Amino acid sequence: MKIVVDWDRCEANGVCMNVAPEAFNLDDKDTLHVLTENVTPELRAKVEKAVRDCPRQALSLSND
Ligand code: SF4
Repeated sequence: MKIVVDWDRCEANGVCMNVAPEAFNLDDKDTLHVLTENVTPELRAKVEKAVRDCPRQALSLSND
């Protein structure tokens, strides 16, 4: 399970980082970084919440 960001939609507001700081980081230039290529079972609930809570619907999960 992989995190996919639609960079055209992301406005770098940091909501996902607040929900799942293990998976997302916003640097001091307001650039979002996905910290983990593959979502572990332990992280999955948090990442799913981040996907739901993203106000721009910029996040999704892929099975690739
Ligand atoms: S919550 Fe959505 S819009 Fe905000 S930084 Fe994360 S991906 Fe971007």
